Amino acid sequence: MTSTLTELRHQAAEFIDLRRDIHRHPELGYQELRTSDLVAERLAQWGYQVTRGLGGTGVVGQLQRGSGSKRLGLRADMDALPIQEATGLPHASCHAGVMHACGHDGHTAILLAAAKHLAEHGQFDGTLNLIFQPAEEGLGGAKRMMEDGLFERFPCDAIFAMHNMPGYPPGQLLLREGATMASSENITITLEGVGGHGAMPHCAADPVVAGAAIVMGLQTIVSRNVPPLHTAVITVGAFQAGQANNVIPQNATLQLSVRSLDREVRRLLNQRIGELVQATATAYGVRAQVDFRGGYPVLVNTPAETEFARAVARELVGSEHMVAQTEPLTGSEDFAFMLEQVPGSYLFIGNGDAATGGHGACMVHNPNYDFNDDNIAVGSAYWVLLTKRFLTA
Ligand SMILES: [Zn+2]
Ligand SMILES: [Zn+2]
Repeated sequence: MTSTLTELRHQAAEFIDLRRDIHRHPELGYQELRTSDLVAERLAQWGYQVTRGLGGTGVVGQLQRGSGSKRLGLRADMDALPIQEATGLPHASCHAGVMHACGHDGHTAILLAAAKHLAEHGQFDGTLNLIFQPAEEGLGGAKRMMEDGLFERFPCDAIFAMHNMPGYPPGQLLLREGATMASSENITITLEGVGGHGAMPHCAADPVVAGAAIVMGLQTIVSRNVPPLHTAVITVGAFQAGQANNVIPQNATLQLSVRSLDREVRRLLNQRIGELVQATATAYGVRAQVDFRGGYPVLVNTPAETEFARAVARELVGSEHMVAQTEPLTGSEDFAFMLEQVPGSYLFIGNGDAATGGHGACMVHNPNYDFNDDNIAVGSAYWVLLTKRFLTA
């Protein structure tokens, strides 16, 4: 065990309490008022220069030491999910229907623990930017912070972020170079036909039949258009039309989630979805509109920064507690926007597996999930060591 890890273990209890306090008071995207207050107050207390308001509730804490010109960015997310918690834990959510089911309470606590230690004991030379972002869950808080000038006001030579991952031993660090998280597209298809009597379909243009053909047709894009060695997912998660058995409705709506691990495949999927929907709608005599909304790009970890992040992991936990090149995931993450502008790496920390059991092994976005507090020491020690190694004289 490195001395950094030992030191961070000593102060972990304070941040376990803080994590549970944040867990008890979850807030949805762009509504992280209490959480961002708490983050900003602590950072200011420890001597950080605090800037608020980027992306609404975003917070940036900056600490400069020495005369070095290097600039590092570390990012945590603060938002919760619209889920009714079912853990029954003493620190369970006290807000009905809102829950920290993705562990962003833990990510925030980890970065705050590192912030305190670095302020009080950190030997580094350069500029440290701690970025606490709102609204990671589908609302693009990272992008909003960037639109508010994040990297112009706080330039970074490299940026890093960490996410917990159930299914792996607690504290295990998993890294990957290249495409690591999928792009995500939220697509709504609106079909407009001609409503009519269910007994006289020849007098109508049925959007239900057209919609059914589109659902089936969409499945051929992955199987027939995407090269077989590439990853792609097209899920039709919602198909809404009609209210009565004897009425042909006027409209139908389909909602899609589309994922890929390659920028070119993403472009191909979007193009083929548009073409197939329009051609099928024409064939069935209905009109179609396809709306793309709030997509996330592919998250791509850059080679040099990932190699650096691996070296820090190796030094902190040893090769036996890390995975140097883990499998990519078809989930998405808006840190991808930041990595389009600044080189860096996004890594995972195991949250618990079958052997450890309990709420930590439960998958994220599940009402029984809970962040594993054992990770606060390891996670914050990782940020402290990475800062020291990156911002060296
Ligand atoms: Zn999530
Ligand atoms: Zn998450």
